[in-house]
Amino acid sequence: MFNNHSELEAALLNCKQCALAHDPHNGPTSYNGTPESMLAVVGEGPGRVEDEYGVPLVGPSGQLLDKALASVGITRDLIYTTNIVKCRPKGNRTPTIEEGQICANRWLDHELTLVRPKLIIALGSVALKYLDHANARITKDRGKWFATKYGIPALATYHPAYLLRLTGKELVKAKWEVFYDLKAVVDKLAELAPGLCLKSDPPPNLLELYEARRQKRMNA
Ligand code: SF4
Repeated sequence: MFNNHSELEAALLNCKQCALAHDPHNGPTSYNGTPESMLAVVGEGPGRVEDEYGVPLVGPSGQLLDKALASVGITRDLIYTTNIVKCRPKGNRTPTIEEGQICANRWLDHELTLVRPKLIIALGSVALKYLDHANARITKDRGKWFATKYGIPALATYHPAYLLRLTGKELVKAKWEVFYDLKAVVDKLAELAPGLCLKSDPPPNLLELYEARRQKRMNA
Protein backbone atom coordinates (compact mmCIF):
# COMPACT_ATOMS: atom_id res chain seq x y z
CA MET A 1 0.00 0.00 0.00
CA PHE A 2 2.83 2.42 0.84
CA ASN A 3 6.20 2.23 -0.91
CA ASN A 4 8.10 4.01 1.83
CA HIS A 5 7.79 5.80 5.14
CA SER A 6 7.43 9.27 3.61
CA GLU A 7 4.34 8.18 1.66
CA LEU A 8 2.86 6.62 4.76
CA GLU A 9 3.53 9.68 6.91
CA ALA A 10 2.01 12.07 4.36
CA ALA A 11 -1.20 10.02 4.28
CA LEU A 12 -1.29 9.55 8.05
CA LEU A 13 -1.01 13.27 8.78
CA ASN A 14 -4.23 13.83 6.79
CA CYS A 15 -6.21 10.94 8.26
CA LYS A 16 -9.78 11.57 9.45
CA GLN A 17 -10.95 7.98 9.36
CA CYS A 18 -12.38 7.54 12.84
CA ALA A 19 -14.42 9.45 15.42
CA LEU A 20 -11.28 10.72 17.16
CA ALA A 21 -10.70 13.02 14.17
CA HIS A 22 -13.61 15.10 15.52
CA ASP A 23 -12.14 15.56 19.01
CA PRO A 24 -10.41 18.95 19.38
CA HIS A 25 -6.71 18.46 18.60
CA ASN A 26 -3.98 19.59 16.21
CA GLY A 27 -4.11 16.58 13.89
CA PRO A 28 -2.62 13.09 13.86
CA THR A 29 0.84 12.57 15.34
CA SER A 30 3.51 10.66 13.47
CA TYR A 31 6.62 8.79 14.65
CA ASN A 32 10.05 9.88 15.85
CA GLY A 33 13.50 8.36 15.56
CA THR A 34 14.93 6.07 12.90
CA PRO A 35 12.56 4.19 10.53
CA GLU A 36 15.34 1.63 9.83
CA SER A 37 15.90 0.85 13.50
CA MET A 38 16.10 -2.67 14.90
CA LEU A 39 13.97 -1.62 17.88
CA ALA A 40 10.46 -0.13 17.88
CA VAL A 41 8.67 1.29 20.92
CA VAL A 42 4.87 1.41 20.71
CA GLY A 43 2.99 3.64 23.16
CA GLU A 44 -0.73 4.34 23.62
CA GLY A 45 -1.70 7.74 22.23
CA PRO A 46 -0.67 11.39 22.24
CA GLY A 47 -1.13 13.72 25.19
CA ARG A 48 -1.20 17.53 25.09
CA VAL A 49 2.51 18.03 24.40
CA GLU A 50 2.64 15.26 21.79
CA ASP A 51 -0.40 16.77 20.08
CA GLU A 52 1.36 20.15 19.93
CA TYR A 53 4.61 18.74 18.53
CA GLY A 54 3.03 16.12 16.29
CA VAL A 55 5.25 13.29 17.53
CA PRO A 56 4.85 10.60 20.20
CA LEU A 57 6.29 10.55 23.71
CA VAL A 58 7.96 13.96 23.97
CA GLY A 59 6.03 15.30 26.99
CA PRO A 60 6.55 14.33 30.66
CA SER A 61 5.97 10.63 29.88
CA GLY A 62 8.45 10.76 27.03
CA GLN A 63 11.05 12.45 29.18
CA LEU A 64 10.72 9.69 31.78
CA LEU A 65 10.96 7.11 28.99
CA ASP A 66 14.19 8.79 27.81
CA LYS A 67 15.69 8.37 31.29
CA ALA A 68 14.62 4.73 31.50
CA LEU A 69 16.08 4.00 28.05
CA ALA A 70 19.30 5.85 28.90
CA SER A 71 19.74 3.55 31.92
CA VAL A 72 20.14 0.62 29.50
CA GLY A 73 22.17 2.52 26.87
CA ILE A 74 19.49 3.62 24.39
CA THR A 75 18.72 7.08 22.99
CA ARG A 76 15.50 7.85 21.16
CA ASP A 77 17.08 9.04 17.89
CA LEU A 78 18.35 5.52 17.13
CA ILE A 79 15.10 3.66 17.74
CA TYR A 80 11.63 4.02 16.23
CA THR A 81 8.87 5.37 18.50
CA THR A 82 5.20 5.43 17.61
CA ASN A 83 1.75 5.05 19.17
CA ILE A 84 -1.21 2.71 18.77
CA VAL A 85 -3.57 5.72 18.40
CA LYS A 86 -2.41 8.80 16.51
CA CYS A 87 -4.99 11.43 17.53
CA ARG A 88 -5.39 12.87 21.02
CA PRO A 89 -8.66 11.79 22.64
CA LYS A 90 -10.74 14.61 24.15
CA GLY A 91 -9.88 15.34 27.80
CA ASN A 92 -6.56 13.50 27.48
CA ARG A 93 -8.21 10.19 28.32
CA THR A 94 -6.58 6.85 27.58
CA PRO A 95 -7.73 5.55 24.17
CA THR A 96 -10.10 2.60 24.26
CA ILE A 97 -9.13 -0.83 22.95
CA GLU A 98 -11.61 -0.35 20.07
CA GLU A 99 -10.05 3.00 19.12
CA GLY A 100 -6.68 1.29 19.24
CA GLN A 101 -7.87 -1.46 16.90
CA ILE A 102 -9.21 1.00 14.32
CA CYS A 103 -6.15 3.25 14.23
CA ALA A 104 -3.51 0.54 14.52
CA ASN A 105 -5.15 -1.55 11.77
CA ARG A 106 -5.06 1.55 9.61
CA TRP A 107 -1.52 2.80 10.43
CA LEU A 108 0.62 0.87 12.91
CA ASP A 109 0.42 -2.35 10.91
CA HIS A 110 1.80 -0.56 7.84
CA GLU A 111 4.46 1.23 9.89
CA LEU A 112 5.81 -1.97 11.39
CA THR A 113 5.67 -3.72 8.03
CA LEU A 114 7.89 -0.98 6.60
CA VAL A 115 10.21 -0.63 9.61
CA ARG A 116 10.61 -4.40 10.21
CA PRO A 117 12.31 -3.99 13.62
CA LYS A 118 13.86 -7.06 15.20
CA LEU A 119 12.11 -6.39 18.52
CA ILE A 120 9.15 -4.36 19.79
CA ILE A 121 8.55 -2.82 23.22
CA ALA A 122 4.85 -2.35 24.04
CA LEU A 123 4.30 0.46 26.53
CA GLY A 124 1.21 -0.02 28.68
CA SER A 125 -2.06 -1.85 28.45
CA VAL A 126 -3.46 -0.53 25.15
CA ALA A 127 -0.30 -1.47 23.24
CA LEU A 128 -0.07 -4.86 24.97
CA LYS A 129 -3.70 -5.73 24.21
CA TYR A 130 -3.35 -4.78 20.54
CA LEU A 131 0.01 -6.45 19.96
CA ASP A 132 -0.62 -9.57 22.06
CA HIS A 133 -4.29 -10.30 22.79
CA ALA A 134 -7.34 -8.57 24.29
CA ASN A 135 -7.19 -10.51 27.57
CA ALA A 136 -3.55 -9.67 28.28
CA ARG A 137 -2.96 -7.72 31.50
CA ILE A 138 -0.05 -5.35 31.89
CA THR A 139 0.39 -6.13 35.61
CA LYS A 140 0.52 -9.88 34.92
CA ASP A 141 2.08 -10.07 31.46
CA ARG A 142 4.73 -7.33 31.46
CA GLY A 143 8.26 -8.61 31.17
CA LYS A 144 7.23 -11.69 29.15
CA TRP A 145 8.12 -12.18 25.48
CA PHE A 146 5.22 -12.80 23.12
CA ALA A 147 4.87 -13.30 19.36
CA THR A 148 3.16 -10.57 17.31
CA LYS A 149 1.24 -10.98 14.07
CA TYR A 150 4.17 -9.35 12.28
CA GLY A 151 6.43 -12.25 13.22
CA ILE A 152 8.42 -9.90 15.46
CA PRO A 153 8.93 -10.76 19.16
CA ALA A 154 7.65 -8.16 21.62
CA LEU A 155 7.83 -7.49 25.33
CA ALA A 156 5.52 -5.21 27.31
CA THR A 157 6.41 -2.92 30.17
CA TYR A 158 4.61 -0.19 32.10
CA HIS A 159 3.76 3.03 30.27
CA PRO A 160 5.74 5.95 31.77
CA ALA A 161 2.44 7.80 32.38
CA TYR A 162 1.60 5.03 34.88
CA LEU A 163 4.91 5.54 36.69
CA LEU A 164 4.21 9.27 36.91
CA ARG A 165 1.08 8.48 38.93
CA LEU A 166 2.91 6.29 41.49
CA THR A 167 4.73 7.32 44.65
CA GLY A 168 6.86 5.74 47.39
CA LYS A 169 7.61 2.01 47.39
CA GLU A 170 5.20 1.33 44.51
CA LEU A 171 7.13 3.74 42.32
CA VAL A 172 10.52 2.27 43.25
CA LYS A 173 9.28 -1.27 42.54
CA ALA A 174 7.73 -0.31 39.19
CA LYS A 175 10.88 1.56 38.11
CA TRP A 176 13.03 -1.52 38.78
CA GLU A 177 10.56 -3.69 36.87
CA VAL A 178 10.80 -1.34 33.88
CA PHE A 179 14.60 -1.38 34.14
CA TYR A 180 14.75 -5.18 34.05
CA ASP A 181 12.22 -5.30 31.18
CA LEU A 182 14.33 -2.89 29.13
CA LYS A 183 17.51 -4.77 30.07
CA ALA A 184 15.94 -7.99 28.74
CA VAL A 185 15.31 -6.23 25.43
CA VAL A 186 18.89 -4.93 25.24
CA ASP A 187 20.26 -8.40 26.03
CA LYS A 188 18.16 -9.97 23.29
CA LEU A 189 19.22 -7.30 20.80
CA ALA A 190 22.87 -8.01 21.68
CA GLU A 191 22.26 -11.68 20.79
CA LEU A 192 20.58 -10.77 17.49
CA ALA A 193 23.05 -8.06 16.50
CA PRO A 194 26.35 -8.26 18.40
CA GLY A 195 28.05 -4.88 18.67
CA LEU A 196 24.89 -2.90 17.83
CA CYS A 197 24.97 0.59 19.38
CA LEU A 198 21.67 2.39 20.03
CA LYS A 199 23.11 5.32 21.95
CA SER A 200 24.03 8.80 20.71
CA ASP A 201 26.33 11.11 22.65
CA PRO A 202 25.06 13.68 23.43
CA PRO A 203 21.45 12.47 23.47
CA PRO A 204 19.03 14.37 21.17
CA ASN A 205 16.80 17.14 22.47
CA LEU A 206 13.50 16.04 20.93
CA LEU A 207 11.64 19.24 21.79
CA GLU A 208 14.27 21.32 19.96
CA LEU A 209 14.28 18.86 17.08
CA TYR A 210 10.52 19.16 16.52
CA GLU A 211 10.05 22.84 17.41
CA ALA A 212 9.51 23.88 13.77
CA ARG A 213 6.76 21.27 13.43
CA ARG A 214 5.15 22.52 16.63
CA GLN A 215 5.11 26.10 15.34
CA LYS A 216 3.54 24.95 12.08
CA ARG A 217 0.84 22.90 13.84
CA MET A 218 0.02 25.60 16.36
CA ASN A 219 -0.29 28.24 13.63
CA ALA A 220 -2.33 26.09 11.22
S1 SF4 B 1 -7.08 8.17 15.49
FE1 SF4 B 1 -6.05 7.13 13.76
S2 SF4 B 1 -7.68 6.37 12.40
FE2 SF4 B 1 -8.58 7.92 13.81
S3 SF4 B 1 -8.46 9.84 12.64
FE3 SF4 B 1 -6.63 9.73 13.93
S4 SF4 B 1 -5.07 8.79 12.60
FE4 SF4 B 1 -7.05 8.39 11.64
